[in-house]
Parts: sequence; structure tokens; C-alpha cells
Amino acid sequence: MIYFDHAATTPMKTEVLDAMMPYLTQNFGNPSSIYQIAQLNKKAIDEARDTIAKYLGAKPNEIYFTSGGTESDNWAIKGIAEAYKEKGNHIITSKIEHHAVIHSCEYLEKHGYEVTYLDVDENGVVDLEQLKASIRPTTILITIMYANNEIGTIMPVEEIGRIAKEHDIPFHTDAVQAVGQIKIDVVKQNIDMLSLSSHKINGPKGVGALFIRRGLKVAQFIHGGGQERGRRGGTENVAGIVGFGKAMELTYRNFDKKIANLVYLRSKLIEGILNNVPYAKLNGHPTNRLANNVNISFEFVEGESVLLLLDMQGICASSGSACTSGSLDPSHVLLSIGLPHEKAHGSVRMTLGEGSTQEEVDEVIEKLPAIIKRMRDMSPLYEEFMKKSK
Ligand SMILES: *Cc1c(COP(=O)(O)O)cnc(C)c1O
Repeated sequence: MIYFDHAATTPMKTEVLDAMMPYLTQNFGNPSSIYQIAQLNKKAIDEARDTIAKYLGAKPNEIYFTSGGTESDNWAIKGIAEAYKEKGNHIITSKIEHHAVIHSCEYLEKHGYEVTYLDVDENGVVDLEQLKASIRPTTILITIMYANNEIGTIMPVEEIGRIAKEHDIPFHTDAVQAVGQIKIDVVKQNIDMLSLSSHKINGPKGVGALFIRRGLKVAQFIHGGGQERGRRGGTENVAGIVGFGKAMELTYRNFDKKIANLVYLRSKLIEGILNNVPYAKLNGHPTNRLANNVNISFEFVEGESVLLLLDMQGICASSGSACTSGSLDPSHVLLSIGLPHEKAHGSVRMTLGEGSTQEEVDEVIEKLPAIIKRMRDMSPLYEEFMKKSK
């Protein structure tokens, strides 16, 4: 099997599982209890917190564990909306956010909040002038993703952070795709809140974190016990948190070498496909994109059908994003960068990961053009187009 869908999720490393194992078996105590097996758990959680804080340039007491990227995004957005409701009701985000952000904003719109969805250019980058022009006295939050999960475009986060700071507006960023592929520094980049998720960096599913800058007012989202310094109730997912911490440490080990290798493989894959398939176009920023992301539109084909044929050859990829496949609406991200419906429908995303190899890239370059050709040969639209262009 060739797994080129690392933006959807990643395989867990054995070292991560090994680190988790004791907390699933003998160290099963509840971290809130006072006996030794419980206190060992508390210590393990704090170590994971230290590791995650270190790689974000944050302080350990600014990291709050959650059930994943989706909860972190919900907490950041709804938590600020509630805490700042006396100050204002306006939120600024972009049109190409993950659904965890878009749907949280839409939910707030039903409850009296106003949301500006910033446009992006053809590469998927927000317009900083439009951002500045959208700021109102009532703006209480700017939430813009660090890097896009579908097209891989990296946003000008540091500039956005600077603008937010100048206007004294909290800045949240969904960095679920950026973590592990970009070096993050929440202080230098003026980030007030940042969402991350374990299963996108070879850790376990169902665990993530929200960085909240010390002193920032954010309402509680999950009410319950006094866990996470009273700000996020619920018995901790101890094994998950330990695995997340281990995954974080491993993802930033040999970082430069790993990223250089991913960029090399990704570029090979893009070149190989574009050189062998006519009427194909790369989506997302040509250079300022995630090291692992390839997203290409093929005219005259359906992305979903390409996926099925790839799957028959043992190749896992995705069209648009995994959350929306199953529905036939074209991806909001691809439409926002200006693709017409038919081109958005003909898009395929391939995302590489740590285990990806040159052989796998070569195999996809060999098989994909034949799949596209086979589908076009059956397409009446393509036939008509070829007749006309003669
Ligand atoms: C995967 C993803 C999420 C959701 O994270 P979960 O841990 O799966 O809930 C949010 N934002 C982005 C950009 C993602 O890629």
C-alpha cells in the first residue's frame, strides 16, 4: 500500500505506542487521586506538557490538553466570543479555514455575532490590506489558519499577528497542519491561541491541545472537574497525552533533514505528474506551501473516480478534504481560490509523510497518468474538447 493521505491522519510510531503502553496497563490510576500510581500519571502529563510547550516557544502552563484539533478550535472561538461579548461581536476569519473553524463561526452568527470571511488570492493567501480594512472597534477575534489542510498554502502568520497586536485583538491560529512541518514560535509570531492535534503528527487520535497565552480571557468550554487548572474538565486521556508528547518530540527530531527530504519528494511528484499529464494544474502556493502537500486539478475527470482507481492499485489519496468527501459539494477551499466547479471536482490531494519513499513517488508518477488517460478516454466532454481544439 502507498499511503499518501497524511493530511487526513498519520500512522502512529512504535516509539509512541511504547511510551503509551504503561499508561494503558499498570499505571491506570486517575491523575486526580493521591496514591502513587495516580501521581505517576500526573507527572507523565506534565512532562508531555513541557515538551509540547518547548516546541511552540510557550510556557507549560499555557498548554491545555483537549480531545483534538476540533475541540481546540471550538474552544478558542466560542471561548473568546463569550469572554469578550461586552466588548464586541465581530470576528474575522478566512474563507478557507477547516470546518472546525468555519462551522464554529457560523454557529456564532446564529447567536448574534458578525463574521467577516476574508478572501484569498489564487494561491490561497489572505489579503493583509483587506484584513486591516475589516477591523472594527467591535472586533474581538482574528482566527486564521497557519497552513491549509487541502492546498498546503502557508499563511503570513507573523504579519497577521503583528496587525492583531497593533489593534489589541486576540489572534488564534489553527496550526494542526503546520505543527511538525514548520518551526513555530508563539512569542515571535504574536500568536495568542494555537490549536494542535496529535494524530496529524504520528501520535494517537482523540487528543490535542490549545495554547492560550497567559492572561488572555477565554471562557471555559468543557465544564466539569478541576482538571487542566480548572479550565477544561474531564479525566485526562493520560496515555493519549503521553503519546502526543512523544510524537511532538519525534516530529521535531532531525527536523531540517526530514523537511528537506519531504520537499524533494513532493517536488518530484509534482513535476512527474505535471510533465506526464496535460491539462493539469497545481493548486496552492507554488513555493510557500507545506513540505508534504501536493494538490492537482485534472480537467475532464472526477477526483472521486480517480481515488477509486488509485485505491484499486493500492494508493491512498484524497480529493478535497476527507471531512467533505461523501458529499458532492466541491471543496470550499478550491472554490475560494477561484477554481470553477468542474475543476474543483477534478482535484486530487496527495500528502506525504515521514515514511514516504522515492520508490512510492516513482510508482505514483508511473500509474496516475494512465488512470487519468483512461478516464478521459471515456469522457464525452474530453472528446468534444479534443475535436474542437483540432
Ligand atoms: C485535522 C484538522 C483539524 C481537526 O483535528 P482533529 O484532531 O481531527 O479534530 C482541524 N484543523 C485542521 C487544519 C486539520 O487539518
